[in-house]
Amino acid sequence: MIELKNMDQFDRMRTAGRIVAEVLEIMKEVIKPGVTTKELDHLAEEHIRKCGAIPAFKGYNGFPATICTSVNEEVVHGIPSLRALKNGDIISIDCGALFDGYYGDSAITLPVGQISSNDAKLMAVCEESLKRGIAQAWKENRLFDISHAVQTCVEENGMSVVRDYVGHGIGRKMHEDPQIPNFGKPGRGPRLEVGMALAIEPMVNLGGYQVETLEDKWTVVTKDRRASAHFEHTVAIMENGPVILTRI
Ligand code: MG
Ligand code: MG
Repeated sequence: MIELKNMDQFDRMRTAGRIVAEVLEIMKEVIKPGVTTKELDHLAEEHIRKCGAIPAFKGYNGFPATICTSVNEEVVHGIPSLRALKNGDIISIDCGALFDGYYGDSAITLPVGQISSNDAKLMAVCEESLKRGIAQAWKENRLFDISHAVQTCVEENGMSVVRDYVGHGIGRKMHEDPQIPNFGKPGRGPRLEVGMALAIEPMVNLGGYQVETLEDKWTVVTKDRRASAHFEHTVAIMENGPVILTRI
């Protein structure tokens, strides 16, 4: 069942979303060659707690950290570690926070130093596909209009969307109905309504769409080990269209 939110609930989600957005801003400032993903995780947790919020991922199904840090061929759910970032890496940071009973969830992919033009294009296409998906989040549209817009943008650019992981409804729980695939036929799926809150999150691969999970049981990587990017926003569907909640 898709739970609809009222304006008061959206306001609370906006606070959670702002805290997450601030974490991602901090990441933009500190990511450079030599920084370890664990250091990034400490900074993220520190900011979330300073804001009176709770890191949403820590302890979620046993996940050990505040953010997911997924480097290069890692798609999602990378675990922060003593790994130091290198010039030419790309890193996706996924962050969630719980504030006043409501969740915010957002992800970005960032360059480390000087990156290849292929990786730069991958990141740009992934971010653009998120924008195109969000642009479909209007009442009266269908859920898979979002999915289709994302897929079209990615495949037009010769890249592929991950099938095994999807976006999701969000609110009092981090993962609510509906699931939001990043591929699908337009005009299908549930009709979108004012009050829905959706975490839209394309995961885009330079090569094939297939992924696998490493032995740590968390880190998802591309099967062909080519690079992957991930962008995500928590979006509210309001009367006058989509409103991004994970913004400062
Ligand atoms: Mg996320
Ligand atoms: Mg999410």
